[in-house]
Amino acid sequence: MRRFLLILAGLAAAVTVGAQDRQTDSLRHSFGRQKLTSSNRKSTPYADTLDTGNPAVKVVLYNNGTYRYVKDPAKVVEDSVFTANWDTRAVNPYREEPEDLPDRFSIWIVDTLDSYCCPYQTRPRSQYGYRHGRRHQGIDLPYPTGTPVPAAFDGKVRISDYVGGYGNLVVIRHANGLETFYGHLSRRDVQSGDWVNAGDIIGLGGSTGRSTGPHLHFETRYRGAAFDPAWLIDFETGTLRHRLLKIRSWYFNPNQRYVQSVDDEDEIFRTDEEDRIAAEEQAKKEAAARAAAEAAAMRYHTVRSGDTLSAIARKYHTSVRELCRLNGIKETSILRVGQRLRVR
Ligand SMILES: [Zn+2]
Repeated sequence: MRRFLLILAGLAAAVTVGAQDRQTDSLRHSFGRQKLTSSNRKSTPYADTLDTGNPAVKVVLYNNGTYRYVKDPAKVVEDSVFTANWDTRAVNPYREEPEDLPDRFSIWIVDTLDSYCCPYQTRPRSQYGYRHGRRHQGIDLPYPTGTPVPAAFDGKVRISDYVGGYGNLVVIRHANGLETFYGHLSRRDVQSGDWVNAGDIIGLGGSTGRSTGPHLHFETRYRGAAFDPAWLIDFETGTLRHRLLKIRSWYFNPNQRYVQSVDDEDEIFRTDEEDRIAAEEQAKKEAAARAAAEAAAMRYHTVRSGDTLSAIARKYHTSVRELCRLNGIKETSILRVGQRLRVR
């Protein structure tokens, strides 16, 4: 438990420092993530964690009364998305063609738990699609050699290797099934199997592999099928275009670049999605309100010399059994002077 809490605390700090110091915050929700700065988080130890309906998600309560949701990577990576078609060498480990994907489907890109960090805010140097008769499955971002490259979203590193034309390549798989590729790196700072949060540095920009100068080759793929990253990210502003990305099968056409036009053919589809978003937002708000109420009701006792569990239980009109449950201890546990026990 203690180890889990330490992991959570580290994770919480990493998420905040990584994303808040970077350029795009516009699409990150403030809701459910108290906007603490990294400095006050360091001086604000957590008081407790609460379970949520999702075993991979905990609410961490801080001593100053704030709270936030955090994910336990150890739980998240048990998801089959991180085990099926998992290959630390093959660029495309999926044995399917883009035609096998549905005509249209939606994937959540970020929610209150998943954050985003723009790989680099810049005007792309080279676009998705064919050029000089060769298929270009990503977008090229001018990227000075040695510039740190952040992970765009939380996920697990699938490939960290030198791979032909890509040079030094890092591929991260995300919980929604999306993969992001970072090519031509001068240095790789992560290994296959590492969990990264959005904004974590995965390597340095460079010009390795088939490259005519320092740049970052960035790809987005879904189940092995590449689509123009511009559907997802507006690189010039650094912002995500959608929190819920609606993908059409024709996005996977090798020559299909992002087009700005909004098509109105499926207003109903969009409305359904919006209803679903609203319902999920409402459920999250209610969960946060419950967590806040529980946090407000919590009381602690600092153990003094001579205290016993039964004396503490009497003092706070509770039971030894309840004290043990709240603190994850046994009736026979030895109390230390100065130890903080949750009593309510
Ligand atoms: Zn490229």
